[in-house]
Amino acid sequence: MARRRLSQHQKKRIDDAQQALTSANDSHQQGLVISHHGGKIIVEQEDSSLATCAVKSNLGAIVCGDQVIFEKTAENEFRVLAVKARDNLLQRLDGFGHVKSVAANITQLLICLAVKPEPNLFLLDQYLLSAEQQRIEPVIVLNKIELLDSTEDPYDLDSVYAHIGYKVIKISVKERLDLDQLKSVLDHNTTVLSGVSGVGKSSITSELLPDTYIKIAEISSANEEGRHTTRTSRLYHLPNNGQLIDTPGVRGFNPLLDPTQPVSAGFREIDQHSADCRFANCKHINEPKCAVIDAVKNKQIADSRYQHYLRMVSPD
Ligand code: GDP
Ligand code: ZN
Repeated sequence: MARRRLSQHQKKRIDDAQQALTSANDSHQQGLVISHHGGKIIVEQEDSSLATCAVKSNLGAIVCGDQVIFEKTAENEFRVLAVKARDNLLQRLDGFGHVKSVAANITQLLICLAVKPEPNLFLLDQYLLSAEQQRIEPVIVLNKIELLDSTEDPYDLDSVYAHIGYKVIKISVKERLDLDQLKSVLDHNTTVLSGVSGVGKSSITSELLPDTYIKIAEISSANEEGRHTTRTSRLYHLPNNGQLIDTPGVRGFNPLLDPTQPVSAGFREIDQHSADCRFANCKHINEPKCAVIDAVKNKQIADSRYQHYLRMVSPD
């Protein structure tokens, strides 16, 4: 925690320094990072023109969605000098358990599920917890609904997840079902797609991006010898002030869980009931007069969510 407070303090100092940087020098400009590839960053300026920038060392990871201060160093040469303070930073765990930054200043995480491969609801709850901890609004998308036998509430997404306030959207890219509903949740938001391999993230991305962008993506992937898909993250503008940050290399990322935050705070219905527990530090495992355990008993809290909570609190 001390470390966090320090970093808040440092952040303020960096902010002040950046403020001084921008006001001190007219040649400094601000822009939005729309791509990061091979040590070069593409920054979009306010007039929509693009600047390919080198990066001053010691700036740490710079990702799509970052606002940066940059300067012109020569004709058509630019350099990023500073990264502005972020509203949030979506992070993930890589295959070695290292924390990696995915995108910055996002407002929404689409958690993509499908009828096939069948959803893993424990993983869904991990994604939801991770999003809550990172202050990013999660939206649950179920794809391939044309494969469902009935229209009944699949995987309890309505009765459990919509019930506690999560937006649930059910679509079929193949049959083009309810794609408008999906598109409208992207309006006025900066969105990242996540979910395991095979659920249809690439298919959804192709649906969402205007044709011009798809052509650009095809050309850039054709240029990358032997590669079928480009793995560069990229921010795309959508109609109605929406932005989609496509992270092709890391869409199936492992959610990052913050061990310094209580798990219960990220389970919204558990958090809500915990105010009525007898003990302020109740962990809702076996304590007396636990309002959460009572709520599970009388089915106000779904048992599946509570079991996942218990697994996350004590993973063994
Ligand atoms: P990703 O790994 O999450 O990016 O998934 P893809 O977009 O590559 O899709 C995985 C497979 O599911 C592909 O064969 C798609 O054609 C297929 N797919 C995508 N959307 C649908 C859908 O709505 N219904 C069905 N039946 N298949 C779909
Ligand atoms: Zn309790």
